[in-house]
Amino acid sequence: MRPQNEIYTANIYYREIFGKKLVKLSVDGGFTCPVRDGRISSEGCIFCSGLGSGDFAARGGGIKEQITEAKARLSEKWGKADCEYMVYFQAFTNTYAPVGVLREKYYAALEAADAKALSVATRPDCLGDDVLELLKEISQKYYVTVELGLQTSNEKTAEFIGRGYKNEVYLDAVKRLNDAGIDVITHIILGLPDESKEDMRHSVDFAVKAGTKGLKLQLLHILKGTRLAEIYEKQPFRVFEKNEYINFVCDILESLPKDIVIHRLTGDAPKDLMIEPWWSLDKRSVLNGINKQLKKRG
Ligand code: SF4
Repeated sequence: MRPQNEIYTANIYYREIFGKKLVKLSVDGGFTCPVRDGRISSEGCIFCSGLGSGDFAARGGGIKEQITEAKARLSEKWGKADCEYMVYFQAFTNTYAPVGVLREKYYAALEAADAKALSVATRPDCLGDDVLELLKEISQKYYVTVELGLQTSNEKTAEFIGRGYKNEVYLDAVKRLNDAGIDVITHIILGLPDESKEDMRHSVDFAVKAGTKGLKLQLLHILKGTRLAEIYEKQPFRVFEKNEYINFVCDILESLPKDIVIHRLTGDAPKDLMIEPWWSLDKRSVLNGINKQLKKRG
């Protein structure tokens, strides 16, 4: 039984499902995205580096080669771990291709990894009925989760960041995924320009009320080569300070329903791309700070 005051982490949730640790193997399926290829826009979201939010995904080569490489890297790190594998299609929009292509890529990766689970990061406006049917089919044999980049529920901010869809599209996608029995993880960015803490809290509530099972809370990173970096250079805006962020994340965690699974509390960024906030590169210290603060609050 999970202690009532413990953060319900993805690690705990997946152990409940699989009985052991679940290890994610990030793969790059070679997709693009409709706010990059011109279908909606060609500029990309303002915060997105040219790697499409997949800054740590294995790259290059076919899917099988990427899986072999990712497994080799992990066994170097952990030795022979007693775990199950989840294939994670992370970079860009991983449902943005004809369904036949998706089918081939998903199954190839699952089989190559001998995985028990599939995680697909995508946009809610790229989930046609045929894609949903495919995910439903896969979920008969594997655990499937879909990660949606909501980022904010403030429509004005959504427009500013170039998200390219309205909130109602997200609501509809979460409903259809839930109806299909697929867990949704929602990605929310904390610290977007001109957003108040109320706005950010509202985004979290909005996702929870919509029926998300999990949350990824991502501290806004200003990365080199993004439109956000240009904006910041021209007119620096306020970014979170470390203790302020720690306290705010704790406020959010305290207010969440107990069955919401936490997949991320801060974020990773390649050091060579980071402009601000620098303190976030020491991720361990941020996570320790959150744990310490939660303990202090009881
Ligand atoms: S964040 Fe996602 S939707 Fe936005 S440009 Fe990057 S890959 Fe596309």
